Amino acid sequence: MSVPSERRRERLVEVYREASGCELCPLSETRANVVFGAGNADADLMFVGEAPGAEEDRQGLPFVGRAGSLLTELLEGIGMKREDVWITNVLRCRPPGNRDPQPIEVESCQPYTYRQVDLIEPRVIATLGNFATKLLTGSRTGITKVRGTVQVHEIGGRAVFVMPLLHPAAALRTPSLVDTLHDDFAKLPDLIARPRPESSAGAPSPAEVAMEAVPAAAGAAPDRADQLDLFG
Ligand code: URA
Repeated sequence: MSVPSERRRERLVEVYREASGCELCPLSETRANVVFGAGNADADLMFVGEAPGAEEDRQGLPFVGRAGSLLTELLEGIGMKREDVWITNVLRCRPPGNRDPQPIEVESCQPYTYRQVDLIEPRVIATLGNFATKLLTGSRTGITKVRGTVQVHEIGGRAVFVMPLLHPAAALRTPSLVDTLHDDFAKLPDLIARPRPESSAGAPSPAEVAMEAVPAAAGAAPDRADQLDLFG
């Protein structure tokens, strides 16, 4: 059953407050701010990145550095704004020196990711890079093999489309990947317009769905409900 918008915000604020004091992993000792997630709490599309960088740690907001500017540009390329989507990360605290997330950190932080999925109820989750893709698909297959092909997963008791995408930071390092990212982003509007997928329970996991296999929902547009600065 879907949670009413008002209640959803209240519950997100509760989870935010909890995350703000989180000391489940050693990153709590070095962070300036917890970067919980931000955007539209009623979004159909959620992005999950890797971890806050220096600027995100300073501002307490996800994707506000250079990779964030590219993410904004990629969204604009498909006619969307950051306020239309929810953006979060696998980790909510910055790893020192932007090193890779460690298994204990990913494990400690994953309840916050799943609780956000549970409350926001996106129909599409776009995973940015290896760490988010591996967490949300439960597979060890690397991003370069799976990028751009939609999968269906049961997350938080609901079936969702998961679209693995390259991390924007990878495209900043290797500019030829920007075109690949644009091409893969171009698949998102069609996915968002579809009804929630059928549960993948019992199907081979991950259930890969051909883009043309699921009929698009006529006239269904991304929900443009209240925009949240952070949320609430
Ligand atoms: N900023 C974020 O919030 N997440 C990333 O993965 C990279 C930059």
